[in-house]
Amino acid sequence: MESYSEIANLLRKANNVLFITGAGVSADSGLPTYRGVGGLYEDQSTEDGIPIEEALSGRMLLSRPEISWKYIWEIGAACQKASHNRAHEVIAAIEAMKPESWVLTQNVDGFHRTAGSKNLIEIHGHIFDLFCVRCAYRVDTRTFFSASASPPDLPPKCPQCQGLIRPDVVLFEELLPEKEVQKLDQVLDSEIDMIFSIGTTAVFPYIIQPVLMARKSGKPTVEINPALTDLSNLVDYHLKTGAAEAMDRLWKMLQN
Ligand SMILES: [Zn+2]
Repeated sequence: MESYSEIANLLRKANNVLFITGAGVSADSGLPTYRGVGGLYEDQSTEDGIPIEEALSGRMLLSRPEISWKYIWEIGAACQKASHNRAHEVIAAIEAMKPESWVLTQNVDGFHRTAGSKNLIEIHGHIFDLFCVRCAYRVDTRTFFSASASPPDLPPKCPQCQGLIRPDVVLFEELLPEKEVQKLDQVLDSEIDMIFSIGTTAVFPYIIQPVLMARKSGKPTVEINPALTDLSNLVDYHLKTGAAEAMDRLWKMLQN
């Protein structure tokens, strides 16, 4: 309880808060936190006998798109069945109070968008944004597949040029989207008063680095994760609680 009130006090004083979120936040929406894009695959191998890192790699998408799309479709279907939770809502509500705040998310489910976050860096992309690899065609998944049977013939083809349609997510072996990286650089160059890392496994440098930077400049750092991660010993506070419960408790504290 002590930590919650201390964190709420620090949060009250902060103007620019950076929330870094990972699969643990979506876990409270019912999405599993396993490894892989969208976090759906606990095992190394898929039912096709191919490691998930390979099935969901940029190379596989180009050489055997039907394999990649089988798993892309599963992830999309799981995301579509779920929706944002209390953690996403509280983060969006804090941004509404403190408009300089940002969310950096590894999640591709778009739940921060639907919860109302505006200052959003989706560093691994968004599963419902589709585009053609050949022409400028872009479409939302729900529009694109609304007329088709479920599941439709995969891989989908561009209605304009018959090129391959793919989701705007970062597959294994692919580079991070430049636009999102630039946004992140700008945020990290600006004054950040406080950092939360919520439900991340923190294996990526772009997750650890902001926390290390904040620590160096004496800004408060909070981790919310039932498990221990690489960050747990680096942060000022580690709340070993699920994201939705912890954020709801913090929100109630903030109202006092
Ligand atoms: Zn096209």
